[in-house]
Amino acid sequence: MNRLLRTLSLILLGLFTVSAWANQVNSARLSATAEKTRLVFELSQKPNFTTSRLSSPDRIVIDIKNTTLKTKLEGLAKQTKLIERIRTSQPAGKGQLRVVLDMAYPSSYKAFKLGPSGKVGHRLVVDVSPSSSKAAKAQVVKPGRDIVIAIDAGHGGKDPGSIGPSGIYEKNIVLPIAKQLKAKIDATKGFRAVLIRSGDYFVSLNQRSEQARQADADLLVSIHADAFSSPQPRGASVWVLSLGRANNEMGRWLEKDDKLSELRGIGEVISESSQGDEDLQRTIVDLARQNNMAESHTLAGHILSEFNGFTKLHKKQPQAASLAVLKSPDLVSLLVEVGFISNPKEEKMLRSSAHQNRLANALQKTITNYFKSNPPRDSWLAQTRTHKVSSGESLSVIARRYGVTLTALKQANHLKNNTIRIGQNLVIPRV
Ligand SMILES: [Zn+2]
Repeated sequence: MNRLLRTLSLILLGLFTVSAWANQVNSARLSATAEKTRLVFELSQKPNFTTSRLSSPDRIVIDIKNTTLKTKLEGLAKQTKLIERIRTSQPAGKGQLRVVLDMAYPSSYKAFKLGPSGKVGHRLVVDVSPSSSKAAKAQVVKPGRDIVIAIDAGHGGKDPGSIGPSGIYEKNIVLPIAKQLKAKIDATKGFRAVLIRSGDYFVSLNQRSEQARQADADLLVSIHADAFSSPQPRGASVWVLSLGRANNEMGRWLEKDDKLSELRGIGEVISESSQGDEDLQRTIVDLARQNNMAESHTLAGHILSEFNGFTKLHKKQPQAASLAVLKSPDLVSLLVEVGFISNPKEEKMLRSSAHQNRLANALQKTITNYFKSNPPRDSWLAQTRTHKVSSGESLSVIARRYGVTLTALKQANHLKNNTIRIGQNLVIPRV
């Protein structure tokens, strides 16, 4: 490159940097092996960053210039024991994102950037390596994952859905309910929600279940409002997956409780015992389908009884249907009709944010309670017990009762000392 070119490109780069004031961290992930813990931030533009190390307590500080954070980092530290906590701050007026890694063990680190490649964009990678073998052993933990709920607000964009007597569109009633539900689920420990559509745009039915599958969702809940040609019908209903002859068979399946528990974790069965055997695979997938249907049916029943406290029900029993959005064999899926937009009284109610909030509350409560009693076996909920501190209990008494060490108990709860308060919920680590 000659000097003129170099100067020119420096000027261009300068211009680019000036115009590029709004960088964003769009996602972050963490992986841990015995050798190192790798933290990767994916950004919309090339990161301009500095790092520093602070002691007592031991911290690694990463400052990324002109950047905002568009993702959550809180849960990431759960996947390694090397880092105790990941915190962020955005010092006022500086437009700078500060990420602080509170270290649990002595370690060395390096940070570097990677350019876009394939589908992934600009990345900032931080590799942290344990400096002792004790730390190396400690850093690999099998993290319990969050249970993922995909929330699908019906219709959107060019497809308004049904239209109420006052002229309001179904797509605009279901979206705020979906958003409130997401916020409530995200605020529940052990759960994470994804919105299939987060604004007023069109998503095809196939894309909806595909997106849920890509998010590794445990449940797809579709939110709609009903309509009819006359104004009288009203009330909510809940629809579950149906595959043709399903209704009777589902009834039979529901009677066989023991079959259900056998079939949980069906994915593992497929991968471990049926490789190369197509017939067996097909049979297992069929069973999984019916298992999912039965699960949907149970959850649908819970939603209806919760709704019953504050809204009319159009159908008192879960309804079976063969709707495209529900046809996802490896996913528990439900479609909730929150009421009739064609009924003037109900339309008015559905428009009110108080009622939308009640609907979102009822859905959050039933969905999270359902998974709390049936947690997928690799989830954080399945791996975690909790204990509510009552009067007179000390940390060491609780540790002894559950057969865990005081250190493990303190670490699981990020406690710096032995002080606990009555009513506090403690996580009891699995031993
Ligand atoms: Zn609809």
